[in-house]
Amino acid sequence: MNTTMTWQNWAGTATADPARRYWPRSTEEIAEAVLAAAGAGLTVRALGSGHSFTPAAVTSGAALDLSGWTGIVAADLESGLVTVRSGTTIRELNGALSTLGLAMPNLGDIDAQTISGAISTGTHGTGARLGGIATAVAGLDLVLADGSVISCSADKNPDLFAAAVISLGALGIISTVTLACVPAFNLAADERPMRLEEVLARFGELAAGNDHFEFYWFPYGKNALVKRNNRILNSGTRAPRAMPAWRRFIEYQVMENVAFGALCRIGRGAPKLIKPLNRLAAATLSKRSYAAPSHEVFVTPRRVRFVESEYAVPVESVLDVLAELRAGVARLADPVMFPVEVRVAAADDVWLSTGYGRDNAYVAIHQYVGLPYQGYFRLFESIATAAGGRPHWGKMHTRDAGYLGRAYPRFADFLRVRDEMDPARRFANPYLEQVFGA
Ligand SMILES: Cc1cc2nc3c(=O)[nH]c(=O)nc-3n(C[C@H](O)[C@H](O)[C@H](O)COP(=O)(O)OP(=O)(O)OC[C@H]3O[C@@H](n4cnc5c(N)ncnc54)[C@H](O)[C@@H]3O)c2cc1C
Repeated sequence: MNTTMTWQNWAGTATADPARRYWPRSTEEIAEAVLAAAGAGLTVRALGSGHSFTPAAVTSGAALDLSGWTGIVAADLESGLVTVRSGTTIRELNGALSTLGLAMPNLGDIDAQTISGAISTGTHGTGARLGGIATAVAGLDLVLADGSVISCSADKNPDLFAAAVISLGALGIISTVTLACVPAFNLAADERPMRLEEVLARFGELAAGNDHFEFYWFPYGKNALVKRNNRILNSGTRAPRAMPAWRRFIEYQVMENVAFGALCRIGRGAPKLIKPLNRLAAATLSKRSYAAPSHEVFVTPRRVRFVESEYAVPVESVLDVLAELRAGVARLADPVMFPVEVRVAAADDVWLSTGYGRDNAYVAIHQYVGLPYQGYFRLFESIATAAGGRPHWGKMHTRDAGYLGRAYPRFADFLRVRDEMDPARRFANPYLEQVFGA
């Protein structure tokens, strides 16, 4: 298929005018598209849902839109292994898993991403004993530059597997993903404002003592919104009740999106008001506790557009990083409207995972679209990199292959596998050149 039109990501930070677009609906059609693009001398990129803030998916060559390549291929209820087509969104995946009595062990904040886009950039949620979404991947089928299909897992082509799970589409086009799912579970959610000083003083205890712990901190406010989600065990634990639909609508749609969006627009029109508006948002945080199926608790609607940068820092350095950020934010020329989000994750063994070989805290900073963010992001990046931070592959950063080669112990191994799988750089783009080198 050969129709061109401008592509733009969710945040408006990346655009592309691919020379060709393809809408493959089978592994064979993915391979045909790769070969047709190669015949025309074009590079190839897969498009996910466009939710990366970095230009990871951008191409002037051939873009493969996988929105017609979705759904479950196979599911084994006993082992929990579920194979899905790569264009399946996490929302579709959650719905399908729930009808099978299964669930993903952990998820991020939203469900709009495709499963392949999410794993390719190392998308993660929170939980000191859990890894990111990529750690639930048990196998992949990849279409390579010569149109062949290769399967990999921990047992079959293990080096390719360790390299491919998080690989930004640099090795080939993922056709299917096999996920190690768990029996469906409910979460007891507890969300409440706490004094920031208390959250910081109790950080280690809160991270260790909850299945999923995170907090949001409005840079000029005294309070943080602390979220603690814990698995409800079948041992007669007293669980909170479900949240009525009307309350969910008010809390998440009206307060977190409509009302907060209105505050952001006022702040953008009158930047002098940003600090008081930010304090107001922090002061009006409310307490809520409820129980729901895991994916309904993990995922929240995000309708207010923002730009974002996020770094994984060694968990033991997070308090210093936050202290420096607090001090620096107070001195910024342009005030910050959006909260900082702090999460945790366990070490893993995926070569390009931000969690490779170490327990991390994730610090994510945001700014409302249209407000100046460059000074803030520069400040944050200098603090996070001084602490040995690894940037989220899908969120804004300026790191290059030199820095990343030092940050990732298996970086050279990844480049070796890339040389074997894509020697002619069929899957290249300028972002890959930045992060992996020429
Ligand atoms: C509102 C919002 C909330 C977010 N929340 C979180 C969060 O909680 N946690 C977190 O970690 N991140 C979060 N992110 C970041 C987001 O999860 C990642 O950027 C993710 O990659 C987006 O997935 P996508 O399907 O949109 O992929 P895209 O952004 O479209 O693509 C990402 C990369 O994957 C490649 N790719 C896609 N499909 C394939 C394929 N089939 N084969 C090979 N390569 C492929 C693309 O070429 C590109 O390099 C959030 C982003 C937004 C906008």
